[in-house]
Amino acid sequence: MSDETVAAARPESCLADLTKAYPDCEKCGLAWDALDPNPPACRPMTFGRIRARLGAEIDRAMSSHDRLVGMRAEGIKQANPMPELSRAIELRAILRFIDRVSTNEAILDILNPRRKAARDDG
Ligand SMILES: [Zn+2]
Repeated sequence: MSDETVAAARPESCLADLTKAYPDCEKCGLAWDALDPNPPACRPMTFGRIRARLGAEIDRAMSSHDRLVGMRAEGIKQANPMPELSRAIELRAILRFIDRVSTNEAILDILNPRRKAARDDG
């Protein structure tokens, strides 16, 4: 597949550097292998996607924490469950922050000025 074909599948707003072996687009929250014949289509990052990712990471941290608690209980002294618990707590704080931001009308207007303009027009 040529670079032109890949580039044509990207919206103008895409931030991916298609000259890289592993292009990524922070705006869309995507990364892919440049050799992939079917690269993912760009789609804007949403609060829903951020929440889902954070939820999955919190679950992963708590699973790891639980596994390390079990290892510690079995007498494996090197097993330290605390870093994974700290990670889960910090991710939960980020999730609460996202929830507050995503439900605050003033912040949403700042993040998407067209949203406010459309409301002002209507
Ligand atoms: Zn993109």
